[in-house]
Amino acid sequence: MRCAAIICLALLSMAFQPPSPDARRTAVGDLAELPPLLRRAFSAEVPEFEPIPKPSPHDWLAVHPETGQTFDQFKASHPNRPTDSRRVIYLQPLGEFAADRSPSIEKLREFAAAFFAMEVKALPALSLEVFRLTTRRNPNTGNLQILTSDVLDFLKERVPADAFCVLAITMEDLYPEPSWNFVFGQASLRERVGVYSFARYDPAFYGETRNSGYETLLLRRSCKVLAHETSHMFGLAHCTFFNCLMNGSNHLAESDRRPLHLCPVCLRKLQWSVGFDVRERYRALERVARAEGFADEADWLSKEIRILHGE
Ligand SMILES: [Zn+2]
Ligand SMILES: [Zn+2]
Repeated sequence: MRCAAIICLALLSMAFQPPSPDARRTAVGDLAELPPLLRRAFSAEVPEFEPIPKPSPHDWLAVHPETGQTFDQFKASHPNRPTDSRRVIYLQPLGEFAADRSPSIEKLREFAAAFFAMEVKALPALSLEVFRLTTRRNPNTGNLQILTSDVLDFLKERVPADAFCVLAITMEDLYPEPSWNFVFGQASLRERVGVYSFARYDPAFYGETRNSGYETLLLRRSCKVLAHETSHMFGLAHCTFFNCLMNGSNHLAESDRRPLHLCPVCLRKLQWSVGFDVRERYRALERVARAEGFADEADWLSKEIRILHGE
């Protein structure tokens, strides 16, 4: 009985509580010194940015009660920033990206270039056989998997001189060590390299039918994971303040619910790091979202652009 009470108390103290309006303002930080446009773009008190709701039992924050990272904490962590000499994001395709079941590398590159307002270059694809990366058949499902540490070791040796980071992307499944079933991706922030798989964003991976429009769904999911994971390379931790691209996610439905854009806290972090013009970045993102059929996201961006123009 006493044990049960103690466990309950421990669980209660761990349970994630959505932050108050005050806590969200604190997370954005002091905006007083910024020009009016940025004060509006980073405002925590506008309706277009929804506060994060209380998580359901299997959601990320119910399982991993994170405390969040304010803008001031982000700055104090001395994150990697692009410099004049290290300013290119490299995408390294790994294995085959068959046109009928993979997102287009060029579309991913365009999206990332708009999202980070940086130059993004795709390197020539690497063949798994030629580079002898360690692979296995998953003991339960039998599907091919690549060992992530092998990929990271390979990338570390080949980081181009002008790279901010190098991200391997693949349609093959990944595993981080023999005892694990799989992993979506892994990165080394210090070495500025990462590897991410889009395999589990394709309905066919789970034996489901690819319904009409699945290409848009697969591209959207892949753009989302690419933007989320690349933002980690800039030192952005998971967001616990708003509905945001940087929210952690524990399952596909939760990941699908996340928006494709950043909340004011995370947008301020990325803007501090890269120094882009917020309106120009939104305009570039809107063009890509519209062209690729991400209609709700394109509408959100159009509205935000109008707001930032004072309309
Ligand atoms: Zn993450
Ligand atoms: Zn956020």
